[in-house]
Amino acid sequence: MRLWCHRIVPSKVVSPACALCGHLTEGLCHFVVGYLDKSLFWQDEVSLLSLQELLPYDGSIWLTLTSFCYGSDLVVIDEDVLVALGAAYSTLWKYHWRCVIDEKPWIASAAVDMVRQDHGTLFSSLYLADGRAGTLALPINNQ
Ligand SMILES: [Zn+2]
Repeated sequence: MRLWCHRIVPSKVVSPACALCGHLTEGLCHFVVGYLDKSLFWQDEVSLLSLQELLPYDGSIWLTLTSFCYGSDLVVIDEDVLVALGAAYSTLWKYHWRCVIDEKPWIASAAVDMVRQDHGTLFSSLYLADGRAGTLALPINNQ
């Protein structure tokens, strides 16, 4: 993200380095999932949404967020899954900038709590009452 901003307005964004971890170039992938704490954030969300089989790695999360597909065959992912991932991403965005502006470190538990606060109602509407309390079981789009 900063890499892009630095290229566009170098006078305002003087460094392409990540403000959270100091990585030399904060590209889009680093901003979303490439940074360890964000990787852990996504692992938590994927686990909460019971999507570990569908999205087992950072790379699969990145693929889904950028293509709306999953797997090597690029199967279109279910809309409910995209809604849930988009909701989690909106909180990642908000919390990232809160940390940067307030000059505070990324705290994993605070990020996860913020997702629950922001999207608890949405996530419960996606919850399938199958007795697995605390988890979501979202259907994948079988073609
Ligand atoms: Zn970073």
